[in-house]
Amino acid sequence: MKRDAGGRKLPEEKFENPLRIGVLEKAQRGLLALLVLIGVAILFVTARAAFGSSPPQRGTGSAGPTVYPTLPPITGLPSRRVGIVAGHWQNDSGAVCPDGLTEVEINLDIARRTAALLIEAGYDVEVLAEFSPKLEGYQADALISIHTDSCNIPEASGFKVARVLQSTLPEEEDRLVECLRREYERATGLYYHKDSITYDMQEYHAFYEIAPQTPAAIIETGFMDADRTLLTEHPDLAAEGIARGIICFLETR
Ligand SMILES: [Zn+2]
Repeated sequence: MKRDAGGRKLPEEKFENPLRIGVLEKAQRGLLALLVLIGVAILFVTARAAFGSSPPQRGTGSAGPTVYPTLPPITGLPSRRVGIVAGHWQNDSGAVCPDGLTEVEINLDIARRTAALLIEAGYDVEVLAEFSPKLEGYQADALISIHTDSCNIPEASGFKVARVLQSTLPEEEDRLVECLRREYERATGLYYHKDSITYDMQEYHAFYEIAPQTPAAIIETGFMDADRTLLTEHPDLAAEGIARGIICFLETR
């Protein structure tokens, strides 16, 4: 036991065996080396997984044509179902002008042309009679009813679009109305009557027959007197406006 100058006991120094230190140090170094090796191995494997199997990068020096990734063909577009009611068809003539021009013949012509355009664009479309039994619970991505205003106000020109007054799909149906308004205006150049939507349009019977989840709208394509040239000589323009309006609605959801 060691003592200091005052005779107090000094703590015992720990006995260190030099041989044991050597063994421990070697073991520690060995362990460290092993850890470094494992680390390097992990890095190597990770790097191979990340870069080893990737295709050659574009524009990195190698000669030959640039290889772009090949994308799979676009398939499986959802089938879009559209119902088009030809106003008054198979029920009555609708409005009749003094010279015998009937609303139903205009409506049916435009409805069939609209359907043809949409079918050509890949949609699943059917033209329905005014009171078609199919309307009961009708399920589709959109239902449009086509009507035309009478000859009664010779100076009146322009078109109207409306949805049901109390809509269960107000945002959807407002968008449908807006798409129809914009595209029909663009295709025909007709004036849009925003403030003369009638109660009859908003309470149109088919709105209450179709399934509640089917967005629907009614369009009055023009007036049979002032807009007659467009409606009878260029019905393709009216049809194009309606078809584009429906596509605008279906493809921008
Ligand atoms: Zn009508």
